[in-house]
Amino acid sequence: MDGRMTTTPPRVLTIAGSDSGGGAGIQADLKTMLALGVHGMSVIAAVTAQNSLGVQGYWELPPEAVRAQLDSVLGDIGAQAIKTGMLASPVLVETVAEVLAGVSAPVVVDPVGVSKHGDSLLEPAAVTTVKSLLLPTATVVTPNLWEVEQLTGVKVEDEDDLPRAAEAVLALGPRWALIKGGHLPGEPVDLLTDGTSEHRFRAERHDNRHTHGTGCTLASAIASCLALGEDVPEAVLRAKEYVTGAIERGFPLGSGIGPVDHAW
Ligand code: PLP
Repeated sequence: MDGRMTTTPPRVLTIAGSDSGGGAGIQADLKTMLALGVHGMSVIAAVTAQNSLGVQGYWELPPEAVRAQLDSVLGDIGAQAIKTGMLASPVLVETVAEVLAGVSAPVVVDPVGVSKHGDSLLEPAAVTTVKSLLLPTATVVTPNLWEVEQLTGVKVEDEDDLPRAAEAVLALGPRWALIKGGHLPGEPVDLLTDGTSEHRFRAERHDNRHTHGTGCTLASAIASCLALGEDVPEAVLRAKEYVTGAIERGFPLGSGIGPVDHAW
């Protein structure tokens, strides 16, 4: 034996946008998957020109190109879990949702709307498609407070509003909703519920400003843990621990906001 791995690790697919700066999107997803011991695969929906200062532009791929990537990966390799991120346009959301409706693997949907810099990563017209077609395919959906408002109209001002927000998100069809309350005043708290059980995840606030890629990393970590056989509450707990470590070690890059770190 030469010590190399000869068994196939669990496979996880990300369907998302590329971040040329390497901090978020597909690049963060694949780093997270490597760190958590699964085989990462990528279907690229859009390419962003991006750095630490923001998103300078983006170009979505033709739906045939996205469909062909999905067919290639799922038709041969298969996936034990799938994560979706930036899907950019109504037609791409529709293309991806159609394929996901036919797969049995758990799906983690990060309903990416805008970046931390305020750059839009989803056409406004696609919000309806996300609600009607994509969310019903989700095992877990991971909106932040801004995305909750965009999807449901519910405005969360403090922790007491989280259950109402989660209920409104669950009404759109995902099995579980993880509402990310990281921007609430006080200690950050996330609420996970499937409508019957409720879990709250608290963390200390870190004053590190280098947090680019946090949302992508969390959703990919949840997908990776699901592929490793954990149930949803266990997967979210371990994914939160992973992201907390990655944020603690986030580092300066360029002249703006640096990325979370995966090399630990
Ligand atoms: N770029 C891409 C391709 C993304 O998918 C995302 C978020 O999902 C971002 C940028 C935004 O990352 P952040 O808000 O962490 O800066």
